[in-house]
Amino acid sequence: MCFVHQVAVDAPGLQLLDYSAETPLAPGTLVRVPLGRQTVSGVVMACTAMDDSPRAIALRPIEAAFDTLPPLDAAWRELLQFVARYYQRAVGEVIGAALPAQLRNRKPADLATTTPQDLVYRCTEAGLEELGASLARRSVALWRLARALGVPGPEAADAPPDPADSAPLALSEARSLHPQARQVLAEWAQAGWVELVDTAPSAASMPAPDLHPEQAQALQAIAASDGFAPFLLFGVTGSGKTEVYLQAASQVLQRKPGAQVLVLTPEINLTPQLVRRFEQRFGAAHLAVLHSGLSEGQRLRHWLAAHTGRARIVLGTRLAVLASMPSLRLIVVDEEHDTSYKQQEGARYSARDLALWRGRQLGIAVVLGSATPSLESWRAAQTGRYTLLTLTQRASGVLPRVRLADTRRDPTLRASGALIGQTLDAALRQRLERGEQSLLFLNRRGYAPVLSCPDCGWMSDCPHCDAHLVFHRTDRTLRCHHCGFQAAVPRACPGCGSLDLQPVGKGTQRVEEALAEKYPQARIARIDADSTRRKGAAASRFDSVHAGEVDILVGTQMVTKGHDFQRVTLVAALNPDAGLFTHDPRGPERLFAQLMQAAGRAGRAVSDQDGSEASAPEMLVQTGHPEHPLYRALVAHDYPGFAQAELIERERGGMPPFTFQALLRAEHRSFDAVVEFLAAAQQLAVPLAQPLGVTLYPPIPAALARVADVHRMQMLLESQHRGALQRMLTSWRGALAAQRSRVRWAVDVDPLDF
Ligand code: ADP
Ligand code: ZN
Ligand code: ZN
Repeated sequence: MCFVHQVAVDAPGLQLLDYSAETPLAPGTLVRVPLGRQTVSGVVMACTAMDDSPRAIALRPIEAAFDTLPPLDAAWRELLQFVARYYQRAVGEVIGAALPAQLRNRKPADLATTTPQDLVYRCTEAGLEELGASLARRSVALWRLARALGVPGPEAADAPPDPADSAPLALSEARSLHPQARQVLAEWAQAGWVELVDTAPSAASMPAPDLHPEQAQALQAIAASDGFAPFLLFGVTGSGKTEVYLQAASQVLQRKPGAQVLVLTPEINLTPQLVRRFEQRFGAAHLAVLHSGLSEGQRLRHWLAAHTGRARIVLGTRLAVLASMPSLRLIVVDEEHDTSYKQQEGARYSARDLALWRGRQLGIAVVLGSATPSLESWRAAQTGRYTLLTLTQRASGVLPRVRLADTRRDPTLRASGALIGQTLDAALRQRLERGEQSLLFLNRRGYAPVLSCPDCGWMSDCPHCDAHLVFHRTDRTLRCHHCGFQAAVPRACPGCGSLDLQPVGKGTQRVEEALAEKYPQARIARIDADSTRRKGAAASRFDSVHAGEVDILVGTQMVTKGHDFQRVTLVAALNPDAGLFTHDPRGPERLFAQLMQAAGRAGRAVSDQDGSEASAPEMLVQTGHPEHPLYRALVAHDYPGFAQAELIERERGGMPPFTFQALLRAEHRSFDAVVEFLAAAQQLAVPLAQPLGVTLYPPIPAALARVADVHRMQMLLESQHRGALQRMLTSWRGALAAQRSRVRWAVDVDPLDF
């Protein structure tokens, strides 16, 4: 007698494989199995008894099982299979995205795990710094204990300790690392290196404010919900959405012992305040944080905290939606419209959509929050599929007034290279005089998007991409923002030898320079991907803005997200018109969301510290199209009006959310190979698509048709019915795989980028 185990192995491209074992392993057990000449990790998905038939005997045996780790539960395993099926990927690839690398590469013996427990030890800051030195190389077991608490190992002696390393450690867990763990930890506590923290969620360290009536109504609706209940919490920046999340989470935790809450946020580095607020409210020991910026060790510890139930709140970016949370009772998706919820590589899943799927699976509430919901969610709220909760007022401060400055009527902007119009100039001077801050943003880093020769029309194009090289003045380079190619600025035009090469258009560096020239007394800071490349650079620049050491902040969209700037009373967008007229059908939606979000950076403060009235907060948009309906809606703070107009357009154009789409993306260095592959793909698709009523569009080049010498093309599929599209894709994908083409291809379901 032996047992056949179906295992989802951690190897891209592979579905479930069979392995044998003499005793049955519970589904969800993490195992190590042989694959070719390697050993890889996998998750047991099913197990059946089998006689000693030749087939059973021929199976390779499971090498080891992580039996100290609680098995991944059925709900998680279903999620894994759903992601693979819906997004047309192999299960093996989804495992790779869902489990931390250290779990996938370790042997079971290396892994200390734990049962949920409310009393845990935590390393103090002093401990992080001193404990390691006190141990020197004394005992392996002591070191194991210290490392589990996050103390940097001897090899990291020179690196400063990172407080994010400090991980809660339960006593049971500690005992498995050191037999006398209790005594040792008591000694360390005496020395001030560790502290015992109570992780019971009632131990909130910060009191919650009383809710405003609209907030209270929203909270009440969420708390009263039963079973799967999707909510759209619609409220401008500062209207108190986060406070509603906090109190909804708190209610869930108090009502059900051991319950867990998942909070998704687009980019954790841009929302440090969100993490801090959850920490303050619930205590850091209850919080696991999951995002791609963690070290492998940190990611494993936080993942385990979620999986074992020790973490009551898991706060993370899109990958956190795949976390194992056995007692999940509430999901929050903050800024649900944000496109970074869509994974753009490998298994291209949408974390927002998966959050809703998990909510339905578990029969729990899902709160989607936004000031500018995605049109998908807005329509769902309009048709009653989601419950709409609205916060109309700012919780503190006032909404900025939005003004449009017409660039066509502004004589100062006629001069070539002029960037700051009259209206903006006056507004900036007023802020400078009053000692208030201004924030200017535009979506282009570098000095100018292209360098050009007025004599012969030469342009600085990337030799490897269908894109311009961006002129960076600080180091006099031309750089490709797509492939990283870099070249020195040529002294003369490569086309005609002219010495008069001109920067065309504007980037953040150029704006910074123009501001410095115009306002020599002002302290100016720039925040974009170039100025913040060093680790910690972004944080320290933001800190100096918060500290009032900056008068004018210039940046890309990095500055428009998340931060609560107390002293900013002016936000200006420098000609965002390009977003109105892109090939991208979602361009307007994105532009509107970005401008609203940027507007939200102004007017947090009511009055100055010395009591004098601050300027009325305002947002200024320099535009050549002030009559455009999008800007009109912006001035009126009218998201519903904007969304309704957009939805009418979408319905007319047969676009999502009125249809469902998928994209076959293909790329290769040989253009012909891509064309050939897609022609074959189209032929295969026709007989599959017709009976299901799926519309096929001919293959076309991607918006960026060549990157780093790789040609990229795509083919769009569309259907009124999600199910029909799914069936078509599943058979088509099989047929495509059988082609064994050298072209790299992938199916992108519900694509956001074209
Ligand atoms: P949002 O998430 O919609 O941007 P927040 O929840 O961050 O809004 O609230 C904006 C500000 O108002 C925060 O400083 C928050 O602490 C404060 N705030 C929110 N709700 C209340 C309330 N009911 N009473 C007092 N202050 C509140
Ligand atoms: Zn020239
Ligand atoms: Zn390039």
